Amino acid sequence: EAKRSGRNRSRYFLPAMHRQVEERVMIQQGISTAIAENQLYIEYQPIVHMKKKRVVGAEALLRWHHPKRGRLGPETFIPIIEESDQIGALTVWIIETVAAELRQLPSQKEPSKLSINISSAILNKPELAQQVNDALLRVDAPDHRICLEITETSLMKDIDNTLPLLLRWKDAGYSIWIDDFGTGYSSLSYLARLPIDGVKIDRSFIRDFDNSKPVIEAIIALADTMNLLTVSEGVEQAEQQQSLLRLGCDFAQGYLYSEPLSISLLTDKLEQQLLRESRQTLKFKPRS
Ligand code: C2E
Ligand code: MG
Ligand code: MG
Ligand code: MG
Repeated sequence: EAKRSGRNRSRYFLPAMHRQVEERVMIQQGISTAIAENQLYIEYQPIVHMKKKRVVGAEALLRWHHPKRGRLGPETFIPIIEESDQIGALTVWIIETVAAELRQLPSQKEPSKLSINISSAILNKPELAQQVNDALLRVDAPDHRICLEITETSLMKDIDNTLPLLLRWKDAGYSIWIDDFGTGYSSLSYLARLPIDGVKIDRSFIRDFDNSKPVIEAIIALADTMNLLTVSEGVEQAEQQQSLLRLGCDFAQGYLYSEPLSISLLTDKLEQQLLRESRQTLKFKPRS
């Protein structure tokens, strides 16, 4: 009996394990082809200035159009890529692509910024950090319009090695934001020493707004005293927007404003905004 159930177990267990191994191999072997054959693309989720009610930038979110599997989201493949050094080449591709697409956006008085997620796997490996550093210096982002998002957890994992990198990138003109803020364990003494522009309040707090309100309030107050800006992630409801405005949050991102968009849809959106704003200044100009 035991023997039979053992055999049964392996009959179900092994194929599942096998599939996971196959999946890893498929992803790790496929990524360089994906880069070479344009299977990867970036969608941009608008970031909105809460008081001005206008789009001021967007976050670059990676997608993979896999020839056999269809559209893959970053959470299905980035963790697997992060296990190998390929995350370096992938991040270089993202930096180059974002820098090129940034130049396609309409020019305006207050130009939009684009944000790139930098994985902890890069910060923790000197060769990968160097590779990414070289790309960041090489692309020479126009007018310092690229922000780097680094999760709180990855930042605190190895702060002694990360801090010099951040200082270099800040010095080169990049803005630096702490991503998913509130989910890690930042030491307040470190926060003050980091060359950061602001924090992104993690979506989990916004989702559970009523219970998390004291935490959100504390983060915004802390950011305020430290002269940091705040972005709220995952804003889906008008009531969340109202409360966040009252609490003094600077920027917001979420389905309430827009889902992630292709670069051409983002461009359209920014052009429409420009048009609307120029019409408005015309309307309010006193007649002579
Ligand atoms: P993240 O940096 O916190 O990015 C925000 C994620 O929240 C995105 O998911 C976005 O589509 C989703 N989101 C935005 N607004 C809402 C909302 O109102 N409601 C809900 N439920 N979700 C919303 P996505 O694109 O699946 O990305 C997931 C994570 O994958 C990102 O989290 C980021 O950590 C990682 N990621 C994405 N692109 C890259 C990349 O190019 N490089 C690296 N290293 N990581 C990336
Ligand atoms: Mg992010
Ligand atoms: Mg985030
Ligand atoms: Mg998040």
